[in-house]
Amino acid sequence: MSSNQTRCFRCVGDIPNMIKYGKTKSGNQRYICRGCGKTRVENYAYLAYKGDISQNIIQLTKEGLGIRSTARILNISTTTLLKRIVSIAKNISKPIISRGKTYEVDEMCTYIRHKKNYIWLVYALEKNSKTVVSFNVGKRTNKTLSHVLETLKLSEAKKIFTDRLKNYRYLIDEKLHSVKRFGTNHIERKNLTLRTHLKRLNRRTICFSKSLVIFTAVLKIYFWI
Ligand SMILES: [Zn+2]
Repeated sequence: MSSNQTRCFRCVGDIPNMIKYGKTKSGNQRYICRGCGKTRVENYAYLAYKGDISQNIIQLTKEGLGIRSTARILNISTTTLLKRIVSIAKNISKPIISRGKTYEVDEMCTYIRHKKNYIWLVYALEKNSKTVVSFNVGKRTNKTLSHVLETLKLSEAKKIFTDRLKNYRYLIDEKLHSVKRFGTNHIERKNLTLRTHLKRLNRRTICFSKSLVIFTAVLKIYFWI
């Protein structure tokens, strides 16, 4: 009764094959896994149900494709894609941060919905590994900044380099803080990389994010997968 081609995506190792489990509305055979109880269809009528679709979404998003171009290439609807991006991002956990490192913090300006609605991306870069350890999106206020700085405080940062924005003076301990010239070189370069890689961050363009939720989700995928 079991089919050789049909194997469960979730289960690994010596798990029995999936067995037949009724048919779908369009008449395709449905299978169920005896290991985890998850069902699957061999040839899905809707492409978004395919097993590797999330992997493709991640890849295209990281290549900087926008929502509509990704949807066109994968042949799924934009609504499905948006939902999928949010659910992928939800499952990403923050990177583990080791203590006593040096960080650079910077802000970057972009828009949501229309060009009058400024939004700031604040993020922290670890100086050695050049990984983004924390980021936040919002207005250019202490609240937005302190979310990122709080993470650094918890990880017992050794030194934090920033630009001369006044807010930092109140938020960072004087002993840790430095606004030294060339101190933020790495993160300034990272800003340019981001603006090149993600279409929604390009300068002099009419392409920008429509929603804050999706913008945050895309950044999460870009930084942490
Ligand atoms: Zn299974």
